[in-house]
Amino acid sequence: MKNQNKQNSKGKKIKYFRVRECKGNMSDLIFRRIFNLLSSGEFDIVLTNKTHGEAGYVDYENYSIYLNPKVFPAEETLIHEALHIIKPNLDEKSIIEMSSLMFERLNDNKRDKLMAYIKALATKYTGVNKKTLSCYYN
Ligand SMILES: [Zn+2]
Repeated sequence: MKNQNKQNSKGKKIKYFRVRECKGNMSDLIFRRIFNLLSSGEFDIVLTNKTHGEAGYVDYENYSIYLNPKVFPAEETLIHEALHIIKPNLDEKSIIEMSSLMFERLNDNKRDKLMAYIKALATKYTGVNKKTLSCYYN
């Protein structure tokens, strides 16, 4: 499918982008925002196996992101929790939809980068071995 050019009522050309292209641009933009958030150092990361079955959550009072790598890959949960922080008005269903789009675009390079941030920002390990913490490559 090619980009289509159409004329609107004022005769101005409107460019229609391919859906795949739009999704790619959107996820790149959001990845950039997630990496900006992480590099700001505003939030600490806590790795723990005590999350009552949750993959993770955000503790806004203590500026901490909790991740449980025993429930779900930590780097994927980090994307989900970071989306909650940068999109505070979105409900859980929308965040899940957006997360799954991001997971689709998650390559080894981005996984490595997320894992590096997890290790750099982690202030606490509970029931999770720091040394064995690694990415879940497909
Ligand atoms: Zn959520």
